[in-house]
Amino acid sequence: MRVSDIGEFGLIKRLAEMLPCKGDPVVVGIGDDVAVLKPSSKYFLATCDIQVEGIHFYRERISPKQLGRKVVAINLSDIAAMGGIPLYILVSLGLPEDTEVKYVDSLYEGIHEEASRFSVAIVGGNLSRSIGGLIIDIFLIGEVEPENLVLRSRARPGDRVLVTGQLGASAAGLHLIQNPGLEIPKSLAEKVKKAHFKPTPRIPEGRVIALSKIATSMIDLSDGLASDLSRICEASRVGAMIQAEHLPISEAAIAVAELIGKAPLDLALYGGEDYELLFTAPPNKADALALKVYKETGTSVASIGEITPNVDERKVVYKDGRVAPLGAMGWNHFRMGCIYSSQ
Ligand SMILES: [Mg+2]
Repeated sequence: MRVSDIGEFGLIKRLAEMLPCKGDPVVVGIGDDVAVLKPSSKYFLATCDIQVEGIHFYRERISPKQLGRKVVAINLSDIAAMGGIPLYILVSLGLPEDTEVKYVDSLYEGIHEEASRFSVAIVGGNLSRSIGGLIIDIFLIGEVEPENLVLRSRARPGDRVLVTGQLGASAAGLHLIQNPGLEIPKSLAEKVKKAHFKPTPRIPEGRVIALSKIATSMIDLSDGLASDLSRICEASRVGAMIQAEHLPISEAAIAVAELIGKAPLDLALYGGEDYELLFTAPPNKADALALKVYKETGTSVASIGEITPNVDERKVVYKDGRVAPLGAMGWNHFRMGCIYSSQ
């Protein structure tokens, strides 16, 4: 059965049945002209992200369920980076007429699964026929207490630069997806592909960081550490010095890098799509914050460098003492194409 067989209203009815959402603070979910939501005394956080077939993903390289999960995870990660709590999503789809209803069901299953994991209610959306490829637009609303909001713009010289989890596996996974002929041990390949297809938004970690009131800035790693660190530096009008030997590079990424002849450090610095949290904290409190995040969430935090006063300075210091400029050459969706799989 194709989407053209059941039409827009048939599909909406079908999806609404898959996504029951009622009860406080959702006054009215799917089914009326708009969703009706109760406001809170906190700040609303609003973000959206459009994913276009052929630009951000290839349908033949990612399952519909994985795609659904990932588009939600990407948005959740942005809420995590503000120290917020995700609340509601609206999902808009542009569907080619020949799309199988089964495909849309699986896509929604993924969207629903990832949203449910963080108690996020799907409260509405829109459907349209697409004469090009598949288009998915997620609009996510979250909230944060004003006193716990963490911006990109308050890093200060002397602050430590910290990062959650591990880096590089997603980029290693993307390389294998783009080069399917490579001979890589299966379990290793599965590990890095999973990192690419199924990122974990760091919502609990973001909350611990925000509630501590210790962090001075925060961002999630979507475009690569070098590029995202530059965003903190620009917003805070500071520089940064990263110590290469302290970067928490994933062991699987190191193993794949060796097999494909790439430098593990490049995957960690420039690879993108790790969806870890990069944040800064005063030097006398940074270790305590790292420990607190680990104790409360089980996620490790590495101290990888320092904020410096020179606005134009972005450097990486190697183990042997060599210093090199840290180029901001992370993913650029318009220049380089797909984030899930591409050139
Ligand atoms: Mg972000």
